[in-house]
Amino acid sequence: MRKWLTTLVLSSLMVASVSSMVTAQISQPDIVQEHWYHSYATLTLDINAWEDDHPEIVNLSSIGQTELGREIWMLQITDESCPLDWDFDGCEHSYYGGEGREGPLVVRKEVVYIDGGHHGNEHLGTELAFLVAEYYIEGWGNGDQEIIDLLATTELHILIMLNADGNDFDTRWNVNQVDLNRNYDHYWNTCPTTQPGSSAFSESETLANSIYMNDVVPHADLYITMHTGVWIMLYPWGKWPEQPSDWEMYHHIRDEVNSNISDIPIRNANQGLYPNCGTSRDYGYGVMGYPTFTFETDDEQFLLGTVEALSERLGEELDVMHYLIENVWYWRARLVADSLKVEEGKVHLSVSNLGYSSTSNATLLYMEGVDSTEIWLPGSDEPVEMIGLTQKGGTPQIQFGSDFNFSTSGFGFAVNATNSTITTLDFTGAPVSSKGIWTLYYQKRVVDSSMWVGNPINDSVVDYESSGGSSLLPTPSILLILVSFTLASINGRNGRFEQ
Ligand SMILES: [Zn+2]
Repeated sequence: MRKWLTTLVLSSLMVASVSSMVTAQISQPDIVQEHWYHSYATLTLDINAWEDDHPEIVNLSSIGQTELGREIWMLQITDESCPLDWDFDGCEHSYYGGEGREGPLVVRKEVVYIDGGHHGNEHLGTELAFLVAEYYIEGWGNGDQEIIDLLATTELHILIMLNADGNDFDTRWNVNQVDLNRNYDHYWNTCPTTQPGSSAFSESETLANSIYMNDVVPHADLYITMHTGVWIMLYPWGKWPEQPSDWEMYHHIRDEVNSNISDIPIRNANQGLYPNCGTSRDYGYGVMGYPTFTFETDDEQFLLGTVEALSERLGEELDVMHYLIENVWYWRARLVADSLKVEEGKVHLSVSNLGYSSTSNATLLYMEGVDSTEIWLPGSDEPVEMIGLTQKGGTPQIQFGSDFNFSTSGFGFAVNATNSTITTLDFTGAPVSSKGIWTLYYQKRVVDSSMWVGNPINDSVVDYESSGGSSLLPTPSILLILVSFTLASINGRNGRFEQ
């Protein structure tokens, strides 16, 4: 890879030398970038140097080409010696989402997705994405224990420069004069807008970004897209003035940031800026179900002649980013059963939500054993067939043989953020025994698009009063349960980082 890459950089330098505008940029120092914005060529050199210096945590790949054929670089940053959460021999704390955060089993690392450079003339935003990557890579290199711990349990996926063509021509648009941040397939071209493209995802840059979201990071619990304009952070929606379904989580983040870190305004995009449609932020929330923010740095981009380093110039913005990344574990619902008592077919369930997002249609599933493909739901005399576990980016999703409406009264329940609930569910129609497996099944956030997750309930909190023997009868070990839920993931693990 290194050889063709060198060729690529050289050839892009040669092409660039034809254009006087770009010539000015390639005269930038290649290594010391702290006082200069990146061109595509200098970015390519810098991020390759990161991978060369720290192959144990940095994986660099191209997820496609811009319309002019430049590579769209993706950085994956994580401690690759701790790849899988169900490897009980190592990386122990990652099963429970981090030290001191005992909660439901998680089946993989936390995932953060960041991109920059949709708009080629918004250099400060692009540099913020660069500086976030640099912070974690250099921190790892310096032996910073907090960063070492973070990279054991978290994957950072950072696409610094989406619109490399526009970046090098210092223009908002891509080479087809399309506004890439109006080209996403979420209410595309339904607002007063300019240059959204000929159709949703008509441009290679946005198409590549959406494919990566869907194929590699559909389970991300944070997506930040970096821009430059007015100093503000925008959450969904751009399309509508109403607050998003997960307003509780967004308001919590806003209040925490404003109280402890920065006065940066944090608002819904439609009201905080202006109505906009087809943005990556609304797509990320409305289609992918991520918690999403547009992070706009201020517009004082002019750097020539300044002595202030970029990382100091953007120090406050970086502090906000560190807060969002280091707390990614909380940006979803995290249900854990405190107790489950079976009494004559009725299940008395006490559930806590450790996350900062509510869930509106959680339910309880019952299986007779690890090998069972039948799932019993509350209030039902017939099981539903489980036809398999789909593999979305390494996260198992149960697929049912028939449609089931979990929000029907009596079948599901809601648990507000950081709250608890007690509910009684009717399992008199199910063949419940102490050999069975109970699983909490719920959406990670309130928005319809958010991912479903299944968390087996630890047998230590289950009590079968009517069976007499109660907890003396062994239920399948948590290891077996975990294996049954993750078998489908194993095939995908090798492909995980190869997109
Ligand atoms: Zn922008």
